[in-house]
Amino acid sequence: MTLTGLLASADLEVAEAQSGQAAVERIGVENPDAVVMDARHSALDGLTVLRRIRAMDLKYHIPMLLLFSEADRTERLLALKQGADDALAAPWDSEELLARVQRSLVLKRRVDELITEGEKLERLSFTDGLTQVNNHRYFQERLADEFRRAQRYDDPLSLILLDLDHFKAVNDAHGHPTGDLVLKAVADALRQNVRETDVLARYGGEEFAVMLPQTHLAGSLTVAERIRKDIQALRLGPQATLRVTASFGIAGFPSPTISVAEQLVASADDALYRAKHEGRNRICLAQTGGTTSPFQAQGS
Ligand code: GH3
Ligand code: MG
Ligand code: MG
Repeated sequence: MTLTGLLASADLEVAEAQSGQAAVERIGVENPDAVVMDARHSALDGLTVLRRIRAMDLKYHIPMLLLFSEADRTERLLALKQGADDALAAPWDSEELLARVQRSLVLKRRVDELITEGEKLERLSFTDGLTQVNNHRYFQERLADEFRRAQRYDDPLSLILLDLDHFKAVNDAHGHPTGDLVLKAVADALRQNVRETDVLARYGGEEFAVMLPQTHLAGSLTVAERIRKDIQALRLGPQATLRVTASFGIAGFPSPTISVAEQLVASADDALYRAKHEGRNRICLAQTGGTTSPFQAQGS
C-alpha cells in the first residue's frame, strides 16, 4: 500500500506533495495537522525540508514524521535531533507507523491547546479587568518599544494622558458601582477615537493613556479634543443625567527636553497637572522650552 493509501485507510484526510519544495510551500498555506515525509529517495532532501519547516514562524505545532531507508541511520538520528517528532527506518510496520501518526496527532492537539491557553493568559495579563482596555503593564512595555522605534527612525510619537475630573465626587454621589460604569463608558469613548495602531491603556484608577505612534502634537491634539468632547457629551447613570469631564496633558517626541520614554510621560503628566490647575475639562500641551506659553484648548 502507498503511504497515502495507508494514511487514508485510517480515515485521515491526506494531501500529497510531490516534492520537498512543494511540501514546504503548501504547509505554510494549508496548515496540516501532521507531516509524514518519505525521505527514502533523498535523506538530505528530507532533512532540508524538516529544517525549513521548523524555521517557519508557525503559530501551532506541526508534527513531522520522517521515513528513511535502512542505510540512512545517520540522517535518521540527525532528523530526531533537528526537530522531527519521529523518524522510522525501512522496512516499517504499517500498523506501527499509523499508531505513531495517531499519537503525534493527539500530542499536537495538546500542544495547540497549551499554545491557545498561553495566549489567552497573556492577553488577560495585559488587559484591565474593568474596562477591557490594555493595562498599565502593557502600556509600559509598548511605550519602551515605541519610544525606541521613534528614536531610531526619527519618527514622531505622541502621548495623551487624561484624568477624569472630580471623579471622587462621582463615586461619593452615585456610588462606586456607578463610578465603574462611568469608567467603562469612558473607555468605550476612547476606543472609538483611537486608531488600530494607537495604544490605549488604563493608566491608573481614573486615568487613561493614549500613545500615538507616527503622530505629531498637532495630530494628537485633534484626537484629544475629539475625546474630550465625546466624554463631555456622555449622559450616564440610571437616569442618563450623570455627566463627566476629563483633563488632558499631551507630550510629543521629538522634543528638545525628551530623550527617554520616562520624560515623555513626565511631560504629559506636567501638562495634565496644568490642565487641572487651569480649570479642568481642557487640554494642555507639554512645554518644550522654558519660555513658550502653553497651548490651551478651552472647554466648550
Ligand atoms: P481631579 O479632578 O483632581 O482628578 O479629582 P478626582 O476626584 O478625580 O481625583 P482624586 O485622585 O482625588 O480621586 C480619584 C478617584 O477615582 C478616587 C477613586 O475613588 C476613584 N477611582 C479610582 N479607581 C476607581 C475604580 O476602579 N472605580 C471607581 N468607581 N472609582 C475609582
Ligand atoms: Mg487621578
Ligand atoms: Mg481625577
